[in-house]
Amino acid sequence: MAKYQIIILPKLDYYNWVAATKEYVLRYHANLTSDLDVAGRHMYPNQVITLLDAPQAYGRNAVSWFRKNYPEVRLDVIEALTPAELENTLSARVSSDDRYGSSGKSFRLLWPTDYPKVNQSFGVNQHFYRRWGLPGHEGLDIRAPMRSGVYACAAGTVYRVHDGSGSHPYGIHVRLRHQDGYRTIYAHLHRALVAVGQHVKAGEQIGLANSTGNSTGSHLHLTLKKEGASAAGMTNYPSDIIDPTPFLQFPEDETELPGKSITVEWKHDMCLVGVHGRADGPLLEPDFPVIKDARMEAVKLLSNAPPDNVKRLLGINSDMFLLVRLFAGFRDRKVSSADFVSWVQADMHQLYEQGVRYFEVHNEPNLQIEGWHHSWQDGHQFTDWFLEVVERLKANYPEALFGYPGLSPGHEIPGQRMDSWVFLQQSEIAALESDWIGCHCYWISDADMMQPTGGLVYEEFRRRYPEKLLFVTEFSNPYSEVSARDKGQQYVDYYRRLRNIKGIGAAFSFVLSASSNFPHEVWRREDGHISDIAQLVGNRNF
Ligand SMILES: [Zn+2]
Repeated sequence: MAKYQIIILPKLDYYNWVAATKEYVLRYHANLTSDLDVAGRHMYPNQVITLLDAPQAYGRNAVSWFRKNYPEVRLDVIEALTPAELENTLSARVSSDDRYGSSGKSFRLLWPTDYPKVNQSFGVNQHFYRRWGLPGHEGLDIRAPMRSGVYACAAGTVYRVHDGSGSHPYGIHVRLRHQDGYRTIYAHLHRALVAVGQHVKAGEQIGLANSTGNSTGSHLHLTLKKEGASAAGMTNYPSDIIDPTPFLQFPEDETELPGKSITVEWKHDMCLVGVHGRADGPLLEPDFPVIKDARMEAVKLLSNAPPDNVKRLLGINSDMFLLVRLFAGFRDRKVSSADFVSWVQADMHQLYEQGVRYFEVHNEPNLQIEGWHHSWQDGHQFTDWFLEVVERLKANYPEALFGYPGLSPGHEIPGQRMDSWVFLQQSEIAALESDWIGCHCYWISDADMMQPTGGLVYEEFRRRYPEKLLFVTEFSNPYSEVSARDKGQQYVDYYRRLRNIKGIGAAFSFVLSASSNFPHEVWRREDGHISDIAQLVGNRNF
């Protein structure tokens, strides 16, 4: 999680500041900039931004600027007024192999949920919190879906449990007292699992998450207090509240999360090598030998595929895994959940009869051409639509497993696409209620394939939904300037990279063939030419 790091240095005297970071940069491969926006965009939201606590360093209060403009980034603030002071701090970190200087603090907080994700930072949304007499958000909001585990950040004693009788803005919550006058509060719980007076160890489960009290949506709100902090002027918050961020150990990977490591059931136990079948209709006769020669293990079909396609594919490979996208043309129509079900049900029925069980519910719903602005205004409305579709179909096909559809990855494009992460956040309940999750990954170069905004988009999905089976339901390099040979090599590398990642079921390359469009992505052209991609995938050594 903390691999991506960028350090912001003052513009004034820039090269002396750069020299001060040299040893550290060589050791940890951190990037450097003097531009706050560059740092904010760098791998957002997966980066750590290291910055100076010097008031004049950036001509503005950089910490509050980031909390407003890039609220999910993790800030690593260093107190240094001169390049020499910075060099001292960084070289101490290098010599103790403590990249972010966390072990220097005597009191530390372990991560309190199974999800390495901050939803709302300390100190943000000042306008909103003013009504509570607070200068900003008085804690950290950490991702914790309904009834997921909440764990003690440090060893301590339970001094208060609020069971939800009577109203409290924190709803059901637990308060712990720790060493050196520190206290932590765990708010908006579903249930507390500890009693007043009980001693708890660091990392011990103390409750289940929910959204009780003054909260919208399940999460954990964590407050940290230090006795005497308000009186001593250490904080501008009342009641001794201080910022927990510098004390918190951000998990580097899932082995550092407190819960028992989550295992996802998947009978193939590896990520299968898959291809998205013909883009706009059933597979054609010349598609089958390509699938055979490329030794495909998984094929994604559209629901208008005839059942005969299934028989043919199982004839090529009796273990072939088939995933079907429930397909309907939306265009500018308003498509209700009932319309959608009535359009796809007959096709789905035939495929279900053939043994297909994995069904992706629609496709890229954050695109205007796929229903945004016509069938739903945002992710919230899509959630209702999705849940209604699944409820109707599940009644008739109880063994079917319904997937949250792959989103079009990337930022908002006015009139075309809603930002994929905003849409996902709004449709969180649909994702959590789904049987599995689909995701789309696109890139244009070797380097982009390894970026969290390119080929690695799936990493963020795994972080958010570690308990869900994930399929990369589309991936490709659509760039016209890259040769089919280079693309084929990238795809083999990509399949190999995903092969042993737990929780990913298959990755489907886009696209086997198409009647029109996608000239730079098809494995088989309409004139019969077979792309190098298919041959390279067939020649893979796994
Ligand atoms: Zn909160």
